[in-house]
Amino acid sequence: MSPKKKINKLAIANRGEVAVRIINACQELGIRTVLLHSEADVRTRAFRMADETVCIGPAPTTESYLQIDRNVEAAVKAGAEAVHPGFGFLSENADFAHACSAAGLIFVGPRSETIRALGDKISAKKLIERAKVPTVPGYMGDDQSLATLIKKAEEIGFPVIVKAAAGGGGRGMKVIHASAEAEELIASASREALSAFGSATVFLEKYLDRAKHIEFQIFGDSHGKCVYLFERECSVQRRHQKIVEEALSPSLTDELREQMAKAAVTLAEAAQYNGAGTVEFLVQDGKFYFLEMNTRLQVEHPVTEMVLGVDLVKAQILTAMGNFTLWPQTDLRPRGHAIECRMYAEDSYNRGLPSTGLLLGLEWPEGPGRRFEVGFEAGDEVTAFYDPMIAKIIVLDEDRPRAIRKMLRVLDDTVVFGVRTNIPFLKAILSHADFVAGTMTTQFIQNYFPEGLEAKPLSTKQKVFAAKALPLVRNSGGSGVPAGVASLNALALPWGGAWRNV
Ligand code: ADP
Repeated sequence: MSPKKKINKLAIANRGEVAVRIINACQELGIRTVLLHSEADVRTRAFRMADETVCIGPAPTTESYLQIDRNVEAAVKAGAEAVHPGFGFLSENADFAHACSAAGLIFVGPRSETIRALGDKISAKKLIERAKVPTVPGYMGDDQSLATLIKKAEEIGFPVIVKAAAGGGGRGMKVIHASAEAEELIASASREALSAFGSATVFLEKYLDRAKHIEFQIFGDSHGKCVYLFERECSVQRRHQKIVEEALSPSLTDELREQMAKAAVTLAEAAQYNGAGTVEFLVQDGKFYFLEMNTRLQVEHPVTEMVLGVDLVKAQILTAMGNFTLWPQTDLRPRGHAIECRMYAEDSYNRGLPSTGLLLGLEWPEGPGRRFEVGFEAGDEVTAFYDPMIAKIIVLDEDRPRAIRKMLRVLDDTVVFGVRTNIPFLKAILSHADFVAGTMTTQFIQNYFPEGLEAKPLSTKQKVFAAKALPLVRNSGGSGVPAGVASLNALALPWGGAWRNV
C-alpha cells in the first residue's frame, strides 16, 4: 500500500448530481468539501451542501469547468489537499491530473501517465491488442490524408464509423454507409474532433450494426492488482449516448462474462491501473470487441454499487489517501438486478428538445431499493449551459422483471413541475418488448423510436389532476409561476405540458 496521505479538505471540480454524490461520500468520511463552481451554478444542491464554495468563472464550460489553471489555483487557495474531478469536464484530462500533482494536490483518479496512455482511443486500442484482446477491425494509422482514410474505409467495407482519437461523450463520431458520403463525413468528423477535443486525428472502425454495449467496472490498487466489479449493459443509447443502464447484462453467458472480465483485468493490470475505471466493449454474435477505456467514475456507477453493495466514490477517495484495501474478488458477488434511468429536462414529444427553466416542484417516491441522484431542488433552474439532466433514478430488485416493474412505478410516481421531462420516453423504453426481453442492441432507439414519442391526448387521471391543480396554481401567486396559466393542458406537467409555453 502507498504511504497514507491525510485528506482533510477535498475540492470538487464538477457540478450537478456527481458533485452531490462526492459531497455525500466526503461527509461520511469526515472530509470537508470545497465546490469549484461557475457563476451559473449558485442555485444548485451541491452549492448548498458543500462546506465551502469558490466561483471559478462564468457559465460557459470553456471559461470555468474546463479551465485547468483556475480549478487548480482555487483548490490550492482554499487549502484543499485533493481534487475529485467527477466525470466529464476535466476528469479524463491528463494535463489536469498532472497540474494537480505539480501543485501538490492529490488527484482522485489514476496517474496522469495512465490517463494519457488509455485516454487516447488509438493508443488504448494498440495497448490492448498487445494484450491479445480483440478489437473492432479498422484503421488507426498515422497517415491522416483524406485519400488514405477514404481508401481504408472502402477496404474495411461499409458501414464504417469514423471517430475522434481524443473523443468522448458520443461526440466526433459519424457512421458512413456508402462510398459516396465517405469524403464529406470523414472531413467533418475531423473538423469536429479538432474543435471539440483539440486534435483532428481520427480513426476508422467497422460499424457493428447489431451490437450490445457492455462494459466492465474495474478497480486497481496501484500495485498492479486489480479486481472486476462485473458488468453494466448500456445498449439503450440515443446519438451514441446512454439513457438506460443496468447491472448485470441480461444477455451474457457465464463463459463470455468470464472472458470479458479477464480481458478487462488484463488491460488494467498491464497499465498498473489505480482506482476506478471502466473497460467498454461491443458484443455481437457471441463475440466481444474492446471499444475504449474510461479512466474515471462513470455516470452509471450506481447500478454497480447497488448490485454489489459497494461505494465506489468512497473507495476512490480512500485509494487516493493510500488507505484502501481492495475487495477480494471472491467477495464481489452480485445480488439482484439494478436499472438506472437518466432523467432529462426535455420534451419527450418533440424529439427530446431540451426544456430548460425553473424547477417549481420535485417529488421523489422514496422506498426500498430506490435511489435518486439529484443535483437540484425546487426553485433551482435547469439552464441551457449544461447537460439538462435533472436526476438519475436507480432501482434494485430481486430480478430483472421486478426491477423493470419497480422502475415503471417509480417513474409514474415521480413528479417534476416547471419543465418537461423524458419520463414518458423512459416509460416507453422500459415497456418495449425488445427491452423487456433483454435483446436490445445499440440500434434500439433508432429502430423503434426514430422520431421520439408521438403526443397522446391526456388520460382521465391526468385531466382530473390538472383540474384540481389549476385553481391552486392560479391562486398561489408564488414566484416562478408565470401569469396567465389558463389551460388544463398546461398543468399536466408531469406528462408533458409546460408552464413556459402557455
Ligand atoms: P465515446 O467515448 O464518445 O462514448 P465510444 O467509443 O465509447 O465513444 O462509443 C460510444 C458508442 O458509439 C458505443 O456505445 C456504440 O453504441 C457506438 N459505437 C462506437 N464504435 C462503434 C462501432 N465500431 N460499431 C458500432 N457502434 C459503435
